[in-house]
Amino acid sequence: MFDKVLIANRGEIALRVHRACKEMGIATVAVHSTADAEAMHVRLADESVCIGEAPAASSYLNTASLLSAATITGADAIHPGYGLLSENAEFAQMVVDHGFVFIGPSPDHIRMMGDKITAKEAVRSLGVPVVPGSDGAVRDEARARGVAEEIGYPVLIKASSGGGGRGMKVAASADEIGAAFSTARAEAKSNFGNDEVYIEKYLARPRHIEIQVLADGFGNVVHLGDRDCSLQRRHQKLLEEAPSPALNAAERAAIGQTVTSAIGKLGYLGAGTLEFLYEDGEFYFIEMNTRVQVEHPVTEAITGIDIVREQIRIAAGLPLGYAQEDISLSGHAIECRINAENPETFVPAPGRIGLYHPPGGLGVRVDSAIYAGYTVPPYYDSLIAKLIVHGRTRNEALMRLRRALGEYVIEGVETTIPLHVRLTEDPNFVNGVYDIHWLERFVGLK
Ligand code: ADP
Repeated sequence: MFDKVLIANRGEIALRVHRACKEMGIATVAVHSTADAEAMHVRLADESVCIGEAPAASSYLNTASLLSAATITGADAIHPGYGLLSENAEFAQMVVDHGFVFIGPSPDHIRMMGDKITAKEAVRSLGVPVVPGSDGAVRDEARARGVAEEIGYPVLIKASSGGGGRGMKVAASADEIGAAFSTARAEAKSNFGNDEVYIEKYLARPRHIEIQVLADGFGNVVHLGDRDCSLQRRHQKLLEEAPSPALNAAERAAIGQTVTSAIGKLGYLGAGTLEFLYEDGEFYFIEMNTRVQVEHPVTEAITGIDIVREQIRIAAGLPLGYAQEDISLSGHAIECRINAENPETFVPAPGRIGLYHPPGGLGVRVDSAIYAGYTVPPYYDSLIAKLIVHGRTRNEALMRLRRALGEYVIEGVETTIPLHVRLTEDPNFVNGVYDIHWLERFVGLK
């Protein structure tokens, strides 16, 4: 096992990785920008290194600084968290080339899944159902028109290197395809430096359901059930639950089986998530995330498995300690993403936190790196806390969520808590009747 792990991230996920390390007897190294000198992940780590100026490009994305920090502190391995460099194949390769262990899959698998076209092709060839669309990239408007006619409007034009919900354009009819195609390409070029796009059937009212997997270096692959992440605004998830209220046990087992078999054949290593759209009883793969996800705690709540600990064990060359039949899903869990944002306009609201009182009690978990007197910097993601509740049933989890949201006090910055409170009172949410477009209608209603 590793003696020391460098955590190449900040905020709640840096703390999350630190916690897993401490429970495994591993020393931690925090890295931070000049803006994060007082951050909780820095205060709690055994050692810390300042790696650059406030903008992420100068610090958290500065690979030379990160590798120097690992060298001078004598770390054995690097955990990238999520976002930042977590899905950067070149970084993973550099980590390995400098003699450290990258806590994640191989650079080749990161690269394969980072390009949505190769990802789709790879999983399709392994028996995973995908959204109907162009086989591969679409390079000119005539071809775009042809594909759209074939699969039928509406269609979605997507950037092959897209991410974070950006680089997607819908064309409702033949009149719109020309403009949608050229804007999608231009946006892909300016956002991701690559104008390659592909086309998919635009699903009208799907749910977003994803499957968490773990795979070790000995050929063992398990899935940890599903998460429903349909509550999104601008393709950004706001609330997630596990298991999905839309699936029955047979559907869950069938998709789990399909996914584990594909991941096994791929020879994938570590934790990963296959994301699907689900409509009328059918699953359609959209992408794979080759890292731990923001919403992983809902799966931990219903399985009792510490996903970050498993990532570290697998990277250290240990086998999974259980088989699929040892994993059972117990009860229901819901996670609310609490962002420092105006809950109506979603404009980021960085600032100094005054009074801070997180909720507690049975079945309540808060993953956060904020504290009273902490200043939320304007440079990074606005996620400041995740509230996760677990109950024996979905109804118990919902009652607990209302109770916990009512206790949560964060003064000094605006947060999305009032929106979550409104959600828990809405009959559609309470009954689990929603799709990926539902939240946008809900926030539009006011
Ligand atoms: P990103 O990497 O930017 O998150 P994804 O491919 O995961 O992109 O898609 C993000 C979200 O966009 C999905 O959760 C869903 O809400 C929507 N989406 C993606 N593909 C389709 C599609 N074919 N039809 C309808 N909505 C889609």
